[in-house]
Amino acid sequence: KVSLADKLAARLAGRRAGGAVHAVTDVSLTVARGEVVGIVGESGCGKSTLGRIVSGIYAPTEGSVLLDGQPVATGHEEHVNKLTTRVQMIHQDPFASLNPRMKVGETIAEGPRTHGILSASEVGEKTRALLEQVGLRGDYADRLPHQFSGGQRQRIAIARALAMQPDLLVLDEAVASLDVSIQAQVLNLFLDLRRDLGLTALFISHDLSVVRHVCDRVAIMYLGRVVELASAERLYAEPKHPYTQALFASVPTLGAGRQDFRPIKGEIPSPIDPPAGCAFHPRCPFAGPRCRTETPGLTDAGTGRRVACHLNDGGVDQVAAA
Ligand code: SF4
Ligand code: MG
Repeated sequence: KVSLADKLAARLAGRRAGGAVHAVTDVSLTVARGEVVGIVGESGCGKSTLGRIVSGIYAPTEGSVLLDGQPVATGHEEHVNKLTTRVQMIHQDPFASLNPRMKVGETIAEGPRTHGILSASEVGEKTRALLEQVGLRGDYADRLPHQFSGGQRQRIAIARALAMQPDLLVLDEAVASLDVSIQAQVLNLFLDLRRDLGLTALFISHDLSVVRHVCDRVAIMYLGRVVELASAERLYAEPKHPYTQALFASVPTLGAGRQDFRPIKGEIPSPIDPPAGCAFHPRCPFAGPRCRTETPGLTDAGTGRRVACHLNDGGVDQVAAA
């Protein structure tokens, strides 16, 4: 269940085309208006699929995406179309996402003109204002994408998304392809825009340090499920799920010695045939017999945190008994 905006909420079971893979299972998430929620996990964990379902690009096989209480992504064409005006996605690759033959001003204006969000007389001025809002010059509207750097193109992609006046932005690895110094500039722009416009966003990233910068709450995903959901503050102070702990331990942090860097043991299992019980059990240092047979639900772990782990039931004894 994903519901959005006064809130975005959704309960989802997404499938990839072809139907064999449950890329996302039983994800239940609510995003309040003005909130930025991070979705974090290794590649293949289903975070991009979740973003595409929320954006209406994929329809869930079960469940729904609610925007202000209304189901918006039921897979019916008209609903999906409506959703795509209210939810705007910003992708990783700023070179692929802009039409190389279209002036950036036209790229920004196309959506709002098509959907009647801006009248023909408003478009030019609004486009220049948006370019300035993302830290570019208004007269760049007449240039083509190849005249811009990766960071500038990502600013243009943000301007294009904002032009639709969306209720929700979905950023999928939006800074991942940029150099670290450019990443910081684009993240700072996002923070400024958030402050000025009160943006609501899902911020999908594999990078825990990037997410810490911009998110209020964070959902950690593993093999298509959310395994921990907490405020960013609490999550970074004390990760609770064994996978979250492993993820933090696997990130080389500034100032930490090499000996503190511990890659997560084992391979990520295939989402086509995920392990029974808790999907993390083959890699979990705490796994017990119960973990191999019973899938833990996402349950309350206090102070607004939710954790999907049998340990959360009351300690290490709980992994033993099925
Ligand atoms: Fe580890 Fe068991 Fe918790 Fe899964 S349920 S994370 S295997 S302790
Ligand atoms: Mg991805």
